[in-house]
Amino acid sequence: MAGGLGLRELGGTGLKISSLGFGGSPLGNLFGSVKEEDAIASVHEAARLGINFFDVSPYYGDTLAETVLGKALKSIPIPREDYVLSTKCGRYGSGFDFSAERVTKSVDESLQRLNVTYVDLIHCHDIEFGSLDQIVTETVPALQKLKDAGKVRHIGISGLPLNAFRYVLDRVPKGSVEVVLSYCHYSLNDTSLLEIVPYLQEKGIGIISASPLSMGLLSGQTPPEWHPAPSELKVACNKAIEVCKAQGKSIAKLALQYAMRNHDIATTLVGMTSIEQVQENVKAAIEVEQGAKYDEELLKEVEKVLQPVKNLTWSSGRDEN
Ligand code: NAD
Repeated sequence: MAGGLGLRELGGTGLKISSLGFGGSPLGNLFGSVKEEDAIASVHEAARLGINFFDVSPYYGDTLAETVLGKALKSIPIPREDYVLSTKCGRYGSGFDFSAERVTKSVDESLQRLNVTYVDLIHCHDIEFGSLDQIVTETVPALQKLKDAGKVRHIGISGLPLNAFRYVLDRVPKGSVEVVLSYCHYSLNDTSLLEIVPYLQEKGIGIISASPLSMGLLSGQTPPEWHPAPSELKVACNKAIEVCKAQGKSIAKLALQYAMRNHDIATTLVGMTSIEQVQENVKAAIEVEQGAKYDEELLKEVEKVLQPVKNLTWSSGRDEN
């Protein structure tokens, strides 16, 4: 399987990242308890199979995910410049703080936990929970200083409401924010990310899409208790799972392959917690790279079940954002 995963350009950053990325939130036990040895083995297997992009945040498991990823990266058998590391700032176990002072300190703490001297990407984590004006006038300029100091290579913003991206990108100096990390907006049940793709492309912004399994709604297992989706959406996703199960098919595979087909999206971030999941997902991703045909019949049936909840989402962040 090694060597089969394609690399895609991340906007104008110059970074070439694997079309499938390793999502680090499960390493902080967000989807149930994961043994450290399994977490580390998953990271190693991902790297072995050609995944070169790893995303994490100090928020995941209140710093646990960064610590575990740091341990895994320390023993990873590839040079630092051969993988792309992304973490975040502004969201913590204790709440949100996008002040210049906090994010500056936060990056130093992340570098220590991750055992590295720089990260390739630093995202302002879930900007809709902060003041978007503060992100523009204080957070991004502070991160720019860290960029000048060589601690971060590129700046990104993450969050759920797509309008918040526009608000920030329309106001920051050109080239300061180079990447957006959107989640739960490009999957079998929600493709609303497409609405802003032309806007992002015009600005040369790299697009990362996370949670192709809709944060567990389409994994085939029970989603975590904290999942914010309205019950209507959860019920429809369960029906879609049943349709796949009845045919002995994996909804996770269908969902992942659906998300990965769109080459406007540089990478699709999936949370993975075992060697088996990594192998399954890399195999599915390589099939996409090689142009394998969809299971069109199954896709049609699943889309029909999900049609009544298409693009149904939930509110996130401050009312004004
Ligand atoms: P996801 O949609 O990737 O789902 C993860 C769940 O699916 C986990 O329980 C995982 O064990 C399971 N899974 C993975 N592969 C599977 C397979 N083949 N079969 C069955 N189950 C499988 O959701 P996610 O982890 O939330 O999103 C991916 C990553 O994107 C995160 O880990 C994080 O790095 C990033 N992310 C960032 C933000 C943000 O910045 N605001 C939000 C969401 C996600």
